[in-house]
Amino acid sequence: MYGSYAAAEDNSFSHAFPQPVILIDAGHGGIDGGTSHGDILEKDINLEIGRRLYVILRSQGYRTILNRTGDYALSDDNRWLRSRSRHLRDLAQRKQLSEELPSEIVISLHVNWGKNNSKRGPIVLHQSEGRSAFLASSIQNSLNNLYSTSSLPQIGKPFYLLNHVDCPAVIVETGFISNTEDRTLLNSKRGQQKIAEAIYGGILQYFTAI
Ligand SMILES: [Zn+2]
Repeated sequence: MYGSYAAAEDNSFSHAFPQPVILIDAGHGGIDGGTSHGDILEKDINLEIGRRLYVILRSQGYRTILNRTGDYALSDDNRWLRSRSRHLRDLAQRKQLSEELPSEIVISLHVNWGKNNSKRGPIVLHQSEGRSAFLASSIQNSLNNLYSTSSLPQIGKPFYLLNHVDCPAVIVETGFISNTEDRTLLNSKRGQQKIAEAIYGGILQYFTAI
């Protein structure tokens, strides 16, 4: 239960966020648009869904951080990793942010693309760890209800974020930008709201059971 942390106030702890927070990572940003279809960019969809999820979680009393609130790359102001690879700096910034904040869970938002445009539906990727797998299946079930799909969550072995973040983290591929039906949902305000609500439903289920 999330509420069990409510009493753990410690004034000697100088952190701006003394209680565990939910970190929402809106994937990509700035010159890194992620995947796309025409002028529809993944980075914009991730940000819209992230903002909506942020508002819902905050309204329900969860301490929540959205790691970007505008269209910029996290690598632009990376303080931690002086790598020449913008992509690596970007990834390191995401990981470092989750360490500086006492994150309880990390939800990384992305959009999928498939060569076969009949491929559709959400896929949630998780770490090879029980709580992450449970969080992923909770969110997957909730999104499957919205999309009328029966996709299964998957272990996200090659993903930097999942390998480098210590708390339970998941990557939510909210749908396929290459599929007409998914794209309609991903690219409309109503669809983005429904997706955010479905992700919230999964998070709620996770915190109710943990
Ligand atoms: Zn992505």
